[in-house]
Parts: sequence; C-alpha cells; structure tokens
Amino acid sequence: MRTTVRVGNVEVTAIRDKAHSFDRAWHYPAVSEEAWAPYLDLIENEPGNAMVNFHCFVVRGDGRAVLIDTGWGPELGPPGAPKSRGALPERLSEIGLEPEDIDVVAFTHLHADHVGWNLVYDGEAISPRFGNARYLVSERDWAFFSSREENHPNIARQALPLERAGVLDTFADGHSLTRSITAVATPGHTPGHTSFVVQSGGERLFILGDLIHHPVVATETGWVHRFDADPEEAVLTRRRQLRRLEEDRTLVAAGHLNHPTFGRFERRGGRRIWKPGVTGGNGG
Ligand SMILES: [Zn+2]
Repeated sequence: MRTTVRVGNVEVTAIRDKAHSFDRAWHYPAVSEEAWAPYLDLIENEPGNAMVNFHCFVVRGDGRAVLIDTGWGPELGPPGAPKSRGALPERLSEIGLEPEDIDVVAFTHLHADHVGWNLVYDGEAISPRFGNARYLVSERDWAFFSSREENHPNIARQALPLERAGVLDTFADGHSLTRSITAVATPGHTPGHTSFVVQSGGERLFILGDLIHHPVVATETGWVHRFDADPEEAVLTRRRQLRRLEEDRTLVAAGHLNHPTFGRFERRGGRRIWKPGVTGGNGG
C-alpha cells in the first residue's frame, strides 16, 4: 500500500516510528471482554489490527516541509513494551529529508508518543533535532502540559525544553501552518488536541491525531481510551468529527492505525467502519 498520497499540489507521507502489539484491556480499561466479543475477528483476521502503530506525517508543498508529530523517539517506548529505538530519522532519510530540511514541526498533542524525536541530548547540551524548524503546539495543550508537575519522562525531556531552546510557538484553533495546512481543534483526548486539514487543488486530507487508536472505535465511538483526558468531550468530538468525515468521504490519516494509516470512514451494514486504503482520487 502506498505511503505517500497527493493532495492537490501537496504530498503527504506516512512514516512509522514504531509499532507494538495492541493490548485491548490496557488501551480501553472500561470496555468488557463481552463488548469486545463481536470484534475479535477484526483483530485476529485482519493484518495489522493486532498492532498499535506510532506514525508521523510529512507534508511537502508550498516550498515547505512540515512534520506532524515526532513519535516515541530514541529512548522510550510504550509502557510495558520492550524499550526500542524509533525509526523516524532513517525513514525521513529514505524519502530524501534530513532533519535540517524540516521547516515546521507541529503536534497533534503533547503526549509522550508524539514528541520523542524533538531534541538531541549531548551531555549537558540540549538542542533541537530539527535545527531549522519552528515547533508549533496548540496554546491549550501547551498551557496544560507545561503546568503539570507529573508528566511522562518523554514529555519532560522532549517537549518542555522546546521553550527554553527558543524554538516554540503556540497557535490557536484555525491557524494556517502553510497555505495548505489548517489546524482544527478536536479537544478531549487532551485539552488542546488538534487535527490538521490538508487542502490543495480541490482535494482534502484530514490528519486525525488520536481521535481513534483502533479501527473498532469507528463503530464504538463511545469507548473511552485510557488517555482521554476528558472522556465526555473526547466522545463528543469523536462522534462529531467521524460523522462529518464519513459524510464527506474525506481521506483520513489516522496515526495509530495500521501502516500506512490512510483510509476512510464508511457505512456497512448500518455501522460506521474504518476502510483502509486510498481510493476516490488521491494518488501519487
Ligand atoms: Zn498517541
């Protein structure tokens, strides 16, 4: 399946930093095994659905290279999983990009698995890995995470020092990162959780962020993820956005789903499902 899609004059590439096996009880602690029962086929028989993936996206166009999220990074991985290094730098290099080529790094939110490659530690010295980039985070997520004393070590190490390094900018809902990329507030998973709409030449792609962590949630929109900061708001946001994306048949990039994460929400047998793949006009 292709890992780069064209959206008008813009190219979007899905880059997997890491993946590990999906532990449903850990991700959805309030969901019973009985509630999972109708979906076990989906997990066992469809390749990739037994995994959780950690993707970043590169959006190239308008003379800019924008990196959305930076994965788990070099040091830390998911709780309970063996520690292993992510692959973002190698994957970027494979598509012809070195860290200095990135103009903007933007975050869907500041959880540990979205900030991991931000900074380089060399003894006492801390420097931005993407040395020519501005790092952009929603003002609500910055206010929330920068004021919390207890943050995951990856957030403390890879997100909070951005301000001291002088490379951090915050943005409000509706901010345009480039001519083709607009921030859309999708709060609930975190207070400032943001999706990004890529729009060019009459085509459109929606970079979802963490509105879903598994395809089953396309149907079970009321299931609350372990890390949904405000469960009620997360469910409202998920329902509103998924309904719209389904109605508009918008191509979606859902970073925790199976590589390369591009697909659409569709209706089948009276239920909304996640349909992986690129169909309906976006090629490249
Ligand atoms: Zn995440």
